Amino acid sequence: MKLQKAPQAAPELVHLEALLGKASVTPLDAGCQPYLAERLEELGFIVERLPCQGVDNLIARRPGVPSLAFAGHTDVVPAGQHWQVPPFQLSELGGYLYGRGIADMKGGIAAFLVAVERALATGHELPGLMLLLTSDEEGEAEFGSRVMAQHLKTQGLLPPWVLVGEPTARSHSGDTLRVGRRGAVSGTLRLSGRAGHVAYLPPTANLLHRALALGQQLAALEWDSGAPDFPGTVLHVTGLEHGDWLDNVTPSSATLRFNLRYSHKTSKDAIDQRIRALVPGDLDFQLDWDRPCEPYFSLFGEAQPNFLTRVERAVFKGLGQFPVLSTAGGASDGRFFSALGCEVIELGLPNASIHQANERVEKGEYLRLIDIYQALLESL
Ligand SMILES: [Zn+2]
Repeated sequence: MKLQKAPQAAPELVHLEALLGKASVTPLDAGCQPYLAERLEELGFIVERLPCQGVDNLIARRPGVPSLAFAGHTDVVPAGQHWQVPPFQLSELGGYLYGRGIADMKGGIAAFLVAVERALATGHELPGLMLLLTSDEEGEAEFGSRVMAQHLKTQGLLPPWVLVGEPTARSHSGDTLRVGRRGAVSGTLRLSGRAGHVAYLPPTANLLHRALALGQQLAALEWDSGAPDFPGTVLHVTGLEHGDWLDNVTPSSATLRFNLRYSHKTSKDAIDQRIRALVPGDLDFQLDWDRPCEPYFSLFGEAQPNFLTRVERAVFKGLGQFPVLSTAGGASDGRFFSALGCEVIELGLPNASIHQANERVEKGEYLRLIDIYQALLESL
């Protein structure tokens, strides 16, 4: 296959080429934010850097009361093997743009920046517009958007609306908007007791029998069923361990592991209480939680046009059809803004190739996303 480097002159590809050329494997930024900061300052944004524990964060805002914020991440997952083009470089091949992070989500950032340039060039001042960028989304997400959201809250600068540029589309940019995500958390329930000889111990005192019974009770728990646009809570038992095995000895410990995906109708504390209440009083146990991720679900203001209506209209303008609303998918940084009261919508490029070798996006879909973002900016 013949490789053709993207033409440098195409103005809508300049920022994309600059960002894809930097190997910003999480949590590294590798110079993406300094590049964006310089460009945004030239456009009249006030830029603030907010580094935290090795993570780069950038807040750029236009003067005025906070209105809309675009949130995104400059970090990417490692390139891995089996690329047919160099991963950290923009390549154009057969109508597609290639590069690690083009869909998730340097393409979204570059498209938004081009849309801002165009909107400003057509006389829109975009008061209070912000860009919130972090280099810690693909990793632990501990010192990125969470820190920026808290910082903005302290300063009284939280925007009412946050547009997250994650790749949410199936086939065409804008065909799917994400307006919420389920929360996730992993639980470990450790039971401890005494080992026994099978010839003497009654089966009801066997710790493994009790763990099996508890596992079944966990699996049978009934949770909320969510809402029309939001899936309900589910629990899956994912592991059962019991230390060394001997054919005539019952174990002295047993560990149950499980994972929950939960809706905005419940909380991690409520889940914790429910599971503690399930364990019989005579059992010694310890319950721990890992990798918690809060759910979010945006409820949009009544006054029209509200945030959702504006985004839907912008999509219609760029795509010729209205988007589908979805709450599927894994965790997103949108949760940190939603938790503080912002309305959050995720809108970006098609996501078919994210985190894979040869990550790519049709050039036409990248250009479409610029049009959609521009239409939204000009409607503010
Ligand atoms: Zn992403």
